[in-house]
Amino acid sequence: VPDEERIVLDPWGTAHVKDYDRLMQEFGIEPLTDELVERLPFQHRLIRRRVIFGHRDLGLILKAIEEDGSYAVMTGIKPSGDYHLGAKLTSEEFIYFQSLSPKAFGFFAIADLEAYADNKIPLEESHRIALSNLTDLLALGLDPRRVYVYKQSVEIPVLRLAFIFSRAVTYNMIEAIYGPKPFGLYFSALVQAGDILNPQLPQHGGPKPTIVPVGADQDPHIRLTRDLASKYREEFGFILPSATYHRLLRDLTGQEKMSKRNPMGILYLNEPLSSARVKVMQAFTGGRATAEEQRRLGGEPEKCVVFVELLLAHFLEDDKRLEEWYWECKTGQILCGECKARAWTIIEHWLRNHQEKRNKMRDLAEKLLEEKTLSQQW
Ligand code: SF4
Repeated sequence: VPDEERIVLDPWGTAHVKDYDRLMQEFGIEPLTDELVERLPFQHRLIRRRVIFGHRDLGLILKAIEEDGSYAVMTGIKPSGDYHLGAKLTSEEFIYFQSLSPKAFGFFAIADLEAYADNKIPLEESHRIALSNLTDLLALGLDPRRVYVYKQSVEIPVLRLAFIFSRAVTYNMIEAIYGPKPFGLYFSALVQAGDILNPQLPQHGGPKPTIVPVGADQDPHIRLTRDLASKYREEFGFILPSATYHRLLRDLTGQEKMSKRNPMGILYLNEPLSSARVKVMQAFTGGRATAEEQRRLGGEPEKCVVFVELLLAHFLEDDKRLEEWYWECKTGQILCGECKARAWTIIEHWLRNHQEKRNKMRDLAEKLLEEKTLSQQW
């Protein structure tokens, strides 16, 4: 592939993927086939609808489930702000893989060092944000009995791993993966490799299959970590971590990635319903220029944020209803104003419910995080 046509994946910036087949070919990501999907004990809507489109070594996790073996589910959150729809996606995948087997154990890293390196957020502030994020994670259905929550800045084994890994990484190698970046980001990439392989350290029961659900733009971290896992296999016995990949979703205004620079594009899970409503009602659609045209030609649901991002990816569980909705739009039976109002009733119900659950989870979130902070004091 000529240099100018290469797909650039920047986990800290904006990534845009036009062609997922090419992405998979270029980076060696395997497609999520029907055969694999059928082996899952139950299929999450993100899998049924192929929002999750690819994987690396998912077979190892399926085998563990089928043979009643243990495996780890690993994810992290950069505590740089309140939970929004992007974080919801990864969290739901994390909870899904945790729920597939009683032998699945979750590892949730709070990437406070990365929040400092990337967004200059002081550690005390990221602690506060992390608490709020954990509250959302619990409200989304995390099983608190089978999860290990920690902050990068105090997780000595992870920091130690990052240092050990740094010996095997040259500047050229890391620059080839991430492009030119400040050294803090390169270092936080090594800390992330430590996060991903942390579940396989002796104190967590040693080597085991580990699944890391990520967005397509995070693949550089997965590639780096798999490379390191194979370089240090002899020393630590690491099993190469598995990953699943979801498509990159747009923000509500149709921009490529949710960013705080565009507040109308972000829907926060703890957002007041009044402002959430305004954002949904102003979301980017696949509607036509006039009502007459839309009745005659139909809308374009595949281009519509309300349909793809809000209903298909997040809020409408019922596949049959989703399909009916698609055809109502496609055949011009419904106009965007009415459609958004209808979508809003579903979203409002979801948000209200989530926020109620969230309010009940505060103490538990605090406990999960405090326990960790205390045990780190030895
Ligand atoms: S009718 Fe609904 S699904 Fe169709 S383009 Fe308009 S907002 Fe989108």
